[in-house]
Amino acid sequence: MAEGSREPMQAIVFEGVGRPLRAVERPVPQAGPGELLLEVKACGVCRTDLHLLDGEISIERPPRILGHQIVGVVRSDSPAVDGRRVGVPWLGWTCGKCEYCRSGRENLCRRARFTGRDIDGGMAQYTVADERYCFAIPDGYPDTQAAPLLCAGLIGYRALGMCGSARRLGLYGFGAAAHIVAQVARSQGRKVYAFTRAGDTAAQVFARELGAVWAGHSRQTPPQTLQAAIVFAPDGSLVVRALEAVAPGGTVVCGGIHMSDIPSFPYSRLWGERTVRSVANLTRRDAEEFLALAPSVPVRTHVRSYPLQAAGQALEDLRAGRFTGAAVIVP
Ligand SMILES: [Zn+2]
Ligand SMILES: [Zn+2]
Repeated sequence: MAEGSREPMQAIVFEGVGRPLRAVERPVPQAGPGELLLEVKACGVCRTDLHLLDGEISIERPPRILGHQIVGVVRSDSPAVDGRRVGVPWLGWTCGKCEYCRSGRENLCRRARFTGRDIDGGMAQYTVADERYCFAIPDGYPDTQAAPLLCAGLIGYRALGMCGSARRLGLYGFGAAAHIVAQVARSQGRKVYAFTRAGDTAAQVFARELGAVWAGHSRQTPPQTLQAAIVFAPDGSLVVRALEAVAPGGTVVCGGIHMSDIPSFPYSRLWGERTVRSVANLTRRDAEEFLALAPSVPVRTHVRSYPLQAAGQALEDLRAGRFTGAAVIVP
């Protein structure tokens, strides 16, 4: 389809908290200056989408097309870009002028706009994205397997970078992000300890298959003290559990955009130069680095595909932990 076509497309829209996602017909969007029209090939589902659906992260102006791990092919009248395969992540626009943008921390830009929250995302047949926030997808990744690299992979990579040189790494919550981080961490010679929901033996088996030296449930004490931990599960009590598991000098990184309250805990858990910090969003530099690194690991993503109309089901399956790895919508 050429740019500017008036054919309708299928899209899944968020209309408000407490309302189910709805399949609608929309006009194919038109790319403005500096934007690319993309035919969506795959769009990963992320826990952030659940937080948006539940109103834990608010969408200012619904209706909104969700989805921020987009793999698409450029449709343009310009032969220079037409047919190029690109990925679109959560970070959709930054101001470029504030102190964060000017110091390599555009992920913290207060005016940043995010794909699938402030800008229509990828749960549709077509989308438009600012060209400056589109990234080449490495060859060798099928569309569906590339999609989870764009948030699970990028946020996981940024979180892993905050763990310094820790060799014994705990991952709390073994979903889409952890299954990618585990592979990168292992390739760097780290030992991965995977923590799952109680009784989730499928996730524990999956973690061991990906090279975890130990897998158990999140209330268990690992056989060795950890040097760092990343908490991907949105459960604040796990921050305290992770602090108890890390040795002095260790870091606990909170990898999610939303989490339940962190219970109070004795200062002795933090004492010994332990650090607790969060990771927020991503920078374009993270995307460039990680997408270059992924094929060399090589990161292999495990995905379950859903048709566009089943986007709501994919999100409920994510909530219930009904699959291992990542869910991807294929329009
Ligand atoms: Zn995400
Ligand atoms: Zn800024």
